[in-house]
Amino acid sequence: MSNGRPSPRDGVGSVVLVGGGPGSDDLLTVSAVKALAGADVVFFDRLAPHENLAALAPRAELVYVGKTPGHHTLGQRDIENAMVERARGGARVVRLKGGDPYVFGRGSEEVIACQAAGIPVTVIPGVTSAVSVPASAGIPLTHRGMSHLFTVVSGHAPLTDIELASLAKLGGTLVILMGIGTLPHVVQGLQRFGAAADLPVAIIERGFSDSQKTTITSLGATVQDAALAGVNSPAVIVIGEVVRLAHHGDDDASAQMARARRLATLE
Ligand code: SAH
Repeated sequence: MSNGRPSPRDGVGSVVLVGGGPGSDDLLTVSAVKALAGADVVFFDRLAPHENLAALAPRAELVYVGKTPGHHTLGQRDIENAMVERARGGARVVRLKGGDPYVFGRGSEEVIACQAAGIPVTVIPGVTSAVSVPASAGIPLTHRGMSHLFTVVSGHAPLTDIELASLAKLGGTLVILMGIGTLPHVVQGLQRFGAAADLPVAIIERGFSDSQKTTITSLGATVQDAALAGVNSPAVIVIGEVVRLAHHGDDDASAQMARARRLATLE
């Protein structure tokens, strides 16, 4: 069952996949906080809120299963096996994920693994970074008269020409997660299929952290400006007219861009 409460039976525990939101404890749902409070073990990711996990899940063993470059971590199947094993032993297992478990979060794979093993499993939705991180920079994904649709894509693997051509024609707002590595490919591809070079682009790094940074540019200037600003993951990329509504509260980023542009023109 992926909704309703799990029903522990015969000493079998349960698994709850919890969407942890974009990184701030304030954006955990009430259900997420309750699940953490009752957990015996929490398997958590890099992008899930975890700074105060010991206080939020005081009874639980905390197990980091995120992927940090250069560190040995568990593969997806190992994580699923570990969750199932702990639940079989009677534990209330929380799998804490960044954002929403069903948005590029492999949540469905974990639900299927639990179901296959006969472990009661439920999913608590979370606040996805796809919507909340742009909002934190003042960017709404829809705006009457400007954009009445948004498309969320993964930039993990390069988009195909058919996808780029469709997205370029579709209009509305394009939101890209995991897209820093393939950013040049996407912005060049969209222009190749007719998107305007002056279409605004925002790159919002580390949303809801003290070091959040927003870089605002245009499709035609993205590659140069992203390099100048030194953009890094995790970041949400927004392409579309709605970027014009971004607020200008990010002085550090704009000062940095102005400096970078001055340096670039001196070269
Ligand atoms: N399930 C998650 C997404 C997982 S994919 C969700 O619903 O939010 C991981 C990607 O999410 C990152 O590469 C980045 O593009 C985005 N992301 C997640 N948290 C973020 C944050 N706090 N700031 C910027 N990007 C974030």
